[in-house]
Amino acid sequence: METTKAHVLNCQFSSWYPKFKKLTPRARILKPIPPSVLNYLNQDGIFLGGSDDDENEDDGEIKDEDDENVQRARVSAEDLKLITDTIEELGGSVVPKLNWSTPKDALWIAPTNSLKCTNASDILLLLKASDFVAHDLDDPFDNCKDDVVGKLTENFSYELVLKEWFPIHTSHEYRCFVKGRKLVAVSQRDPNYYDFLEKEAPEHLELLIELSEKLHDFPDENFVFDAYIQKDRAFLIDINPYSLTTDGQLFSWSEINKLNTDDPVLRLVPK
Ligand code: ADP
Repeated sequence: METTKAHVLNCQFSSWYPKFKKLTPRARILKPIPPSVLNYLNQDGIFLGGSDDDENEDDGEIKDEDDENVQRARVSAEDLKLITDTIEELGGSVVPKLNWSTPKDALWIAPTNSLKCTNASDILLLLKASDFVAHDLDDPFDNCKDDVVGKLTENFSYELVLKEWFPIHTSHEYRCFVKGRKLVAVSQRDPNYYDFLEKEAPEHLELLIELSEKLHDFPDENFVFDAYIQKDRAFLIDINPYSLTTDGQLFSWSEINKLNTDDPVLRLVPK
């Protein structure tokens, strides 16, 4: 189960979203990522005022900070407008991510303590504070064993993804492991025990099997997808490589590798 650059690239949001648009909540992909946003994210340190939306300056270039005598990249008015318009298009609240990662490790910095962003500043603050996002930027292929220099990543670009926010009940989130194009294992994602899940789980599993069958166009035969069950529908949330770098949740990877079944195993957090 060696991870290759191709596996990682296939899991970028922009690689799978166009194929599976109907199976996943609405999103917009700004690709390449607006340049001043990339500059802002790439500079060291977090500072407030990463955006210049509360100022009249709009050239978007590196500006002098008189008080500290340092130069800081600010996000241009043009790029801020693009983000603001996109948020509006998606109904007013979004969850941001880069090619692979959502800044879910940075909730501590968000005024709402959630991924729900209603303006560009919320988005910039979360992305900037996240180590997961920093990993997307710094070394997304660090676990890849292949040595294909150039070629595969020649046309690579960073992307800013804005997904329409919706209220999620984390008890209904599952991680699903597909091996040889067959769903073999399903794990509850929330680490808490929910008694109602025991009753609902068989129906959830049916919905997840149906969803997995609709993903046959995914280029790899082994992959891991995250799903959310709302009422009688399973929504695709994310796709990850079938790799040790992807958390097996309630399964160990050696267990998953050994599973060879037509009846996927669903595991819930025990009482
Ligand atoms: P990652 O690949 O970094 O895990 P995900 O896209 O899987 O990012 O999202 C991480 C978590 O964020 C999800 O498990 C879910 O709880 C929450 N989330 C994702 N998308 C949305 C959304 N559109 N609205 C509300 N919460 C979301």
